[in-house]
Amino acid sequence: MPVHDPEHGPNGFDLHALSGNLCRCTGYRPIRDAAYTLGSPEADDPLQQRLAQPAPQPVATDAEVDGARFVRPATLAEALRILHDEEDALLVAGSTDWGVEVNIRGRRAPLVVAIEQLPELRTLTVGDDVASGADGYVEIGAALPLSDIEKRLDGRVPLLAQLLPQFASRLIRNRGTLGGNLGTGSPIGDTPPALLALRASVVLASVAGEREVDLADYFTGYRQTVKQPDELIKAIRIPLPLATTTAFQKIAKRRFDDISSVAVAFALDIDGGVVTGATIGLGGVAATPLRARATEEALIGRPWDIATVKAASEVLRGEGTPMSDHRASSAYRSHMLGTALLKLYSQTTLASKEVSA
Ligand SMILES: Cc1cc2nc3c(=O)[nH]c(=O)nc-3n(C[C@H](O)[C@H](O)[C@H](O)COP(=O)(O)OP(=O)(O)OC[C@H]3O[C@@H](n4cnc5c(N)ncnc54)[C@H](O)[C@@H]3O)c2cc1C
Repeated sequence: MPVHDPEHGPNGFDLHALSGNLCRCTGYRPIRDAAYTLGSPEADDPLQQRLAQPAPQPVATDAEVDGARFVRPATLAEALRILHDEEDALLVAGSTDWGVEVNIRGRRAPLVVAIEQLPELRTLTVGDDVASGADGYVEIGAALPLSDIEKRLDGRVPLLAQLLPQFASRLIRNRGTLGGNLGTGSPIGDTPPALLALRASVVLASVAGEREVDLADYFTGYRQTVKQPDELIKAIRIPLPLATTTAFQKIAKRRFDDISSVAVAFALDIDGGVVTGATIGLGGVAATPLRARATEEALIGRPWDIATVKAASEVLRGEGTPMSDHRASSAYRSHMLGTALLKLYSQTTLASKEVSA
């Protein structure tokens, strides 16, 4: 029986399958209506049968065309060896970021190293039961596609469960990775604010071994990080226990397939009406993603009430050094920071009223 909800037509057509491909001149509604009126394929339809098969697995490759080389190494050790030996090597995982550089900006790399199939980079482990609040960590392989993270975590890290549906669209999430999002060093990627709020660290690997870097120390300047050219991001570690109150707020011009103008991620512990812990990650308001440390200090140890929230909101409004660009003015960005905590407060008080009603 086909799924029928606001995002699926009566014939089960999943609107997200078209996400990012819709024609802006025709408009979205006529295309949606046409897709919804299509019948279902016959059971013996060859394409329908093909859909039931798993996608063919890419194999290890080393090919050279017109002086440009593409390598898909079979092992992590091989990938690290290439990174060590070839200073021109460019890593590619889902290529949702690098692909835009190639298509739109005409960039080319003499040596592309595809790491998206390396099993060592596609792991996901939850050290201890997240729900039990025990110590340990969640470790996510840097090349595991975001859709797989969504599925495999299945809501166990609520901040990521809130963020991921807002990240690009299903098509991009099927390919894009955390390693790629952090690998660009961009100040407007969506995952850094959330991972900062979660106090995550990155595991960097090279032929010399591995080192773990707190994400708060990872970004050093505009698109600059502590990662050395011969290193790759192997995994992201999120320490447990998780904060009890988390939220991700993305301000963007479009709901899907758009980069944030501002992103704010909160991870608070509120115990007996008092804020006992606060970690806040920001994106889009400085040359790097950053922690809102002054705001965190303005919250910790204070009652979770409107007076604290209003005072801390003024501090949050002043965090970062937002600039004006085609996405938003610096004043707008600061204003969005100034309202973020109020929004979270209204959500938490609404939720507690619903529970007590
Ligand atoms: C239509 C569209 C919508 C988008 N929407 C969003 C959005 O909402 N939010 C958002 O944050 N981004 C968005 N993006 C950007 C992009 O999808 C993300 O940055 C994604 O996480 C990149 O992952 P990837 O695996 O595709 O990276 P790739 O394109 O493969 O690589 C990106 C960069 O990271 C490096 N890299 C990749 N993996 C590693 C690794 N393991 N270690 C070290 N370096 C590495 C590469 O060398 C390259 O420089 C969007 C892109 C498109 C095309």
